[in-house]
Amino acid sequence: MTLRVNEIFYSIQGESSYAGLPCVFVRLTGCNLRCSYCDTRYAYEEGGILEINHIFEQIAPMRCHLVEITGGEPLIQDKTPILIESLLEDGYEVLLETNGSHDIALVDDRCVKIVDVKCPSSGMHHHMDMENLNRLSAKDEIKFVLGTREDYEYAREIVTHMKSRFLKISSVNFSPVFGQLKPETLAEWILADHLPCRLHLQIQKYIWGPDARGV
Ligand code: SF4
Repeated sequence: MTLRVNEIFYSIQGESSYAGLPCVFVRLTGCNLRCSYCDTRYAYEEGGILEINHIFEQIAPMRCHLVEITGGEPLIQDKTPILIESLLEDGYEVLLETNGSHDIALVDDRCVKIVDVKCPSSGMHHHMDMENLNRLSAKDEIKFVLGTREDYEYAREIVTHMKSRFLKISSVNFSPVFGQLKPETLAEWILADHLPCRLHLQIQKYIWGPDARGV
């Protein structure tokens, strides 16, 4: 059983409420979206075919129990849920970073899903499967990547109208597009509106710079 894999590496988790923890990343090839601010365009096409057991062989020496499956968009490959289930069965804690356009119910309940909710400046917000917001469980997270004030107001509208549901999930993350929206500006907006969300920074970009890859 195979998957198309862009890269596998061990680094510090830069995103979500797991930010700061050592983590193994399995970046799968391919994405069905083309967000304006995408910082992983290299994952659209690059990558080799790997048997699932070869993925395990690469992960094991990294000696880290936390594994994130990311992309591109992991759920465009139909074997991704099997990889996730296999990792869980082997005792790994598994995070799935997904762009929100595919049904997350296909993925094992034990996996922590971190679901992007695309905003207008991405150019991709019409591709969201908004039903995914009803499929979140208490340990899951959502993320809004914000490039403009319009994006912020779009995200605020969703959070405000779905407040009771979002209070039950682990974290609602508001992340500024690096180099486009200043963190301090976003902080001011969140505080002014008393929003129950987490200001979320991509800390790998502060540690290694915005163009570093495989870190
Ligand atoms: S969903 Fe992610 S990988 Fe795909 S285009 Fe958007 S930012 Fe890039």
